[in-house]
Amino acid sequence: MTFSELPPGAVAVAWALMGLMVGSFLNVCIYRLPLEGMSVRSPRRSHCPACGTQLGWKENIPLVSWIIQAGRCRACSAWISLRYPFVEAANAGLWYMAVVLAGPADWPLWFCWSVVLSGLLVATMVDFDCFQIPDEVSLGGCVLAPLACLLVPSLQGETILAQVLSEIPEGGVDRVGALLASFAGMGVGAGVLFLIGALGKKLYGAEAMGLGDVKLLAAGGGFIGPGGALAALALAALVASVFGLFNMLRFFILSRSRARGRGRSDGVGRSLRVARLAGRYLPFGPFLGLGIGMVLLAWDDLNTLWI
Ligand SMILES: [Zn+2]
Repeated sequence: MTFSELPPGAVAVAWALMGLMVGSFLNVCIYRLPLEGMSVRSPRRSHCPACGTQLGWKENIPLVSWIIQAGRCRACSAWISLRYPFVEAANAGLWYMAVVLAGPADWPLWFCWSVVLSGLLVATMVDFDCFQIPDEVSLGGCVLAPLACLLVPSLQGETILAQVLSEIPEGGVDRVGALLASFAGMGVGAGVLFLIGALGKKLYGAEAMGLGDVKLLAAGGGFIGPGGALAALALAALVASVFGLFNMLRFFILSRSRARGRGRSDGVGRSLRVARLAGRYLPFGPFLGLGIGMVLLAWDDLNTLWI
């Protein structure tokens, strides 16, 4: 029995279930990676953050436990954050999409895609929490990308540079072409964000781009090539500016309703300033992650959209 003999949907569903279980490990990573000196491996068993009770296997079934317990701890009935089942479900969904979009038979490709997507999910959640991207994900990705491209050249199958550098006719990609495209992608990904950061520092005198973002796009570029890295950055900037505007609007409305609550009718200008300052502080990593993930999964579809 091989993958190609199984019904295509079965492979995707089985892999999504695997993604659900890995998702609960990702929750551990998201919680522990930013904490200095806390390893992903120990303590072994997870516990309730509110009362410290160790969780048995019944309380550790991804998604299912949360639903059965209606989102509460069994011992102390404290609320368990919705983010745990969210991360598990998101990872399952991403892994499902990887199989469907790569085609169930091409398992090396969807396996690599799944690993990358999970890394992006961890980077996204940690960046939302504490405005940093763990080196384990970004630098780990930089080490993993060239190795993965050497083993699975089809990762760079849509990269024009890889096709040009390969000795296979008609747009095929060989190991050397994929490896060189991976390095070029890392260089372009890191380079363009580093330049933007340096330029922003010169213009505004403030840190415009964190080094974590630079390292994350370097890792992403290693998987999606130089053109992919630029496309991912463009997508990230586009979505981030829409979100940034909404975020400023949110702070503006908040500030207005507070002013009204205090019985002040003045200060529209003040609210605008508050909104502009507070609304600007969005982490960029999640948007980069979104851009990289979209290019990774749907490079050819995105290209036809633009043309
Ligand atoms: Zn508890």
